Amino acid sequence: MRNRWSDADAGDGPLGQCAYGSRLIGGEPTLVLHGGGNTSVKAEIADVTGAPVEVLYVKGSGHDLASIGPEGFAPLRLARLRELLTVTALSDAQMVNELRCALLDASAPDPSVEALLHAMLPHRAVQHSHADAILTLTNLADGEAVIRDVFGDDVAIVPYVMPGFDLAVRCAEVWRDRAHAGTIGLVLLNHGLFTFGDDTREAYERHLDLITRAERRLAEHNAPAPAPAPARARPTSAELALLRREISEAAGRPMIVARHADEDTARFVARADLAEVATRGPATPDHVIRTKRVPLVGRDVAGYADRYREYFERHHRRRGTELKPLDPAPRIVLDPDLGMLTVGGSAKDTDVARDIYRHTMDVITAGERLGGYRPASEEHIFDLEYWDLEQAKLRRAGAPQAFAGEVALVTGAASGIGRACARALAAAGASVVGWDLDAGVTRTLPGAGYLGQVVDVTDRAAVESALRAAVERFGGLDMVVASAGVFKAGAPISALDADAWRTSMAVNVDSVAVLFRETHPLLALAPRGGRVVVIASRNVPAPGPGAAAYSASKAAVTQLSRVAALEWAADGIRVNVVHPDAVFDTGLWTEEVLAKRAADYGMTVEEYKRRNLLRTEVSSTTVAQAVTRLCSDDFAATTGAQIPVDGGSERVV
Ligand SMILES: [Zn+2]
Repeated sequence: MRNRWSDADAGDGPLGQCAYGSRLIGGEPTLVLHGGGNTSVKAEIADVTGAPVEVLYVKGSGHDLASIGPEGFAPLRLARLRELLTVTALSDAQMVNELRCALLDASAPDPSVEALLHAMLPHRAVQHSHADAILTLTNLADGEAVIRDVFGDDVAIVPYVMPGFDLAVRCAEVWRDRAHAGTIGLVLLNHGLFTFGDDTREAYERHLDLITRAERRLAEHNAPAPAPAPARARPTSAELALLRREISEAAGRPMIVARHADEDTARFVARADLAEVATRGPATPDHVIRTKRVPLVGRDVAGYADRYREYFERHHRRRGTELKPLDPAPRIVLDPDLGMLTVGGSAKDTDVARDIYRHTMDVITAGERLGGYRPASEEHIFDLEYWDLEQAKLRRAGAPQAFAGEVALVTGAASGIGRACARALAAAGASVVGWDLDAGVTRTLPGAGYLGQVVDVTDRAAVESALRAAVERFGGLDMVVASAGVFKAGAPISALDADAWRTSMAVNVDSVAVLFRETHPLLALAPRGGRVVVIASRNVPAPGPGAAAYSASKAAVTQLSRVAALEWAADGIRVNVVHPDAVFDTGLWTEEVLAKRAADYGMTVEEYKRRNLLRTEVSSTTVAQAVTRLCSDDFAATTGAQIPVDGGSERVV
């Protein structure tokens, strides 16, 4: 592993250098993944009275080593931590409380649960990772002997103990009995590596040195060039959506399901011994929170859920306190035909599970080559999964967002009403698929929960392939908002332009009919029932002269939606229509057009914008709020409705 330390880039002082060294290991996915690992540095500062105080700056929980800065560290009174290490027992809750009480800054993040272990080590700088190479070697049946062989007497070995007070005490015992002047690391079996030094650079270089030695051992048993994975037929969107529905039923809430079929994954799931090697347990117990103890191999979700309940029954009494069972749905699904599916309450969660399990596949593959992958015991995994601190997080968690775990498709999502709908649905927790002709649709929303696709909704092949990609990304579809539309320049019927008429019909009606046909099988599998909202127009109940093509097309799409409401009610799908009017913050309205139109009516622009019964301005956001509410349970008993969002029109009321 390459040494990336640069004195020119290292920050100022011990804390700056610690943050820099943290980012170096945090930026290396074979060392640290998604919030894993931690680091610290000890320094002497003056407190507000001017008195010198020894401080341990340790990574704050919730901060990621890949991006941490000095503010991500929690400053603790070192003398107090050393006192805590002398008590005979400390529950997790007591430890968390004591750590907070030892802070020098009341606004600092919660210190890492491994803070006492950092405090115990006499060196100024400490780095801790969950490196793949260390996990591979320590997850072997003879892991301890292999570690001894690779590192000689340069490291002390600590048997697996759950993170927290007990681990710190166990490490202190090992340190007292085994450490000597040449000890540069602690190897925690089934867990990871600690290195230390006089400064962060030394701790970092020792880390790399030990990792490099471990990697060299792995390379001695290098695999022959991998055979290409066998080609398999892609699963259909309906197959994936059905599996997502079953997983969501087991979880008791809608879940996002992402599919991964890259070459490495395809090769792993094609292993003849897949069901056996993949169900021994995670590479380190910590991963259980993201991946559960074992993946579902195959597609029997109900069988998996039964086995999970049995696992809970086998272990929960041992703990002597009431435990709240977690949902029994898998987080990783491995299937020779599907590849890997990762499952989570959000798209981000599915990404984290994917990253962790990709490394797990590497660790399993290498471990099997070296003589057999033997992870921590089922008891250890259960104890971490049902750790007091994890249970406390569940107790604290508020109600999930209205659309958590659900997927919404919004057409016309690059601007105006479509973009506002995409944002409002995402703000309520939905993962969103946005379509538009405008390439700006890829930037409508940031983050893992958004997939922007450049799609011409009148191109059937493009619609089919975009929909397929969306299902591969999120697992299915719960909501559709049909917002893409065109308004061709007004003309009286006597001067009707046949092409303009045809385009209006193609975009405003035909494309929605195709969208309905293609999305119906997916909406019928939505865990909480499908919901469709069509953006029509006030022109439907109150047409205007000179807008024949627009009014007729919006009337047709309204009628199409009413038929869908009739046909799909038995599938639990609600279909509603909104009729907006005078929404001026869309691409259709430029300032010039607005000024001209106001002048035509003898009004100021402000008066013109509010020429409705309520004298209110209707914006894209106003429409998006109505659409979002229609998709929510507030309207669970409403289908086939047409809701004006127009400030009130005397021609409609
Ligand atoms: Zn750790």
